[in-house]
Amino acid sequence: MKMRIVLFLLVAVMVSCASLSRKRDYQQPTTSQQLSTVEKPKLVVGIVVDQMRYDYLTRFNDRYTDDGFKRLMRDGFNCKNNHYNFVPTYTAPGHASIYTGTSPMNNGIIGNNWYDKFESKSIYNASDDSVDPVGTTSDDGKMSPRRLLTTTVTDELELHTQGRAKVVGISIKDRGAILPAGHAADAAYWFEGGDAGNFISSTFYMNQLPQWVNDFNASGVLASYMKEWNTLFPINTYTASGSDLNEFEKPPKGKETATFPYELQRLSKKNGGYSLLKGTPYGNSIVADFAIQALKNENMGMDEITDFLAVSFSSTDYVGHQYGVNSVELEDTYLRLDRDIARLLKALDDQVGAGNYTVFLTADHGAVNNPAYLQSRGVNAGYFNSRDLEKFLKEQLATDLGNEAILKEVSNGQLFLDYEILKSSRMEQNYVQQYLADLMVNYPQIDKVYTRNALMNTQFTTGTGALVQNGFHHKRSGDVVYILEPGVISYSRTGSTHGSSQSYDTHVPLLFYGAGIQNGSTADRTHIIDIAPTISSLLGISFPNGATGNPIVPVLK
Ligand SMILES: [Zn+2]
Repeated sequence: MKMRIVLFLLVAVMVSCASLSRKRDYQQPTTSQQLSTVEKPKLVVGIVVDQMRYDYLTRFNDRYTDDGFKRLMRDGFNCKNNHYNFVPTYTAPGHASIYTGTSPMNNGIIGNNWYDKFESKSIYNASDDSVDPVGTTSDDGKMSPRRLLTTTVTDELELHTQGRAKVVGISIKDRGAILPAGHAADAAYWFEGGDAGNFISSTFYMNQLPQWVNDFNASGVLASYMKEWNTLFPINTYTASGSDLNEFEKPPKGKETATFPYELQRLSKKNGGYSLLKGTPYGNSIVADFAIQALKNENMGMDEITDFLAVSFSSTDYVGHQYGVNSVELEDTYLRLDRDIARLLKALDDQVGAGNYTVFLTADHGAVNNPAYLQSRGVNAGYFNSRDLEKFLKEQLATDLGNEAILKEVSNGQLFLDYEILKSSRMEQNYVQQYLADLMVNYPQIDKVYTRNALMNTQFTTGTGALVQNGFHHKRSGDVVYILEPGVISYSRTGSTHGSSQSYDTHVPLLFYGAGIQNGSTADRTHIIDIAPTISSLLGISFPNGATGNPIVPVLK
């Protein structure tokens, strides 16, 4: 009897709970427009930090503010083991892969510059003679994404919304603005430097600059950064870096040592005018200033159609190249970038509202510590001269195969062969590729060698071979690819560079934050090509047409 009453009460409670939850369901917004305001961000902001190694998040963490990198890490999702899945790790392939969700194998951006075997000359990834400069008369404006073969997540957003989404790309570097913005963008703006110091564009996007861009260029804000660059904190507190004065850094022209302070006004005369600002933290501040103006003047994130602001901070790369991974200059640049990012997030809060926008932050590649510094600490490292390699190979070709001109070009760690000579002298391509590979694998400081024949006929699934294959475009790439030993670079003895398959170049930050993003972190391996599919999933739009990455499931709510 008692049991029956308990059962009855239990069923009654369950029924009323079910009807309550049904009631709640009915109260949910039902039209697709209402749903989209709940689920989709009003704005996506993609932030690429040029040459940012993963460990810059941890190495400088103590003195980051609560509102920049730390805000993204604390309130967002941190993919701590995110890597490039291809070589070469350069700016153009990096930006292209972030936004296309695939590697150079498909998107075709195999370097910043590469030897174009069809035009028999070295070409620049974004150069385009069919467009005219806007906001300048110089060739700096003759740029477009024409050589990018697959669509970007930004392209797919434009296609999905019948062009109603606003997509704007901004960077100091042309390629840092153009490749992320994609083919269907409303605008891409980059920094001219020189005497003018303006943000410019090309007729690929527009016939004249909008008034707000002209106003920004005329505002004198750029000139205001031509001041002294000194450290943000007392220099003796920069304990995450080496000493300011050392032999591994390159001073700007007109200065004896690469030491603080830097009087930019005076130094600008010998260092390309406003171009000098590119290699200081102020280059990033200028990009943040300009991005905030774009946000306001283009009314981004103000309606129900998701917009996309693609920002790339390039000055970190210039500073890294000049002063190196271990320099006080680099540490100071990151402490200041953190504050610029905090400022950008504040502007997004004010205009779009916290919780209404989504941010991701990553890098186009990492960087190696200066090899001479590594050697001074006992680490295996060194310098490689590709001209010496070319000379050696030509001598061998002349002796063994009777014609040194078989080797047409050495570019981005790849040998390009002259197919006409091979054909007329009836030499087998595969034979010559393997002959050169056998020579090179025994050459000092070369670690691994891959032939076109192997890359086209074998599926590499792991290891360096997979990275080489993902970076190898069947039509555009060369015929033999060589990989240098860890810590070995083709570069000057001062500063740092990048481009390799080693983890110092492939391991980069990946942070997601805001609308639709879970709070958390993972140490599972993720890849740079997963970013675009993750954002596509968040927005419910098509993946970029060549995408080979996958959505990072734990990131999404
Ligand atoms: Zn670089």
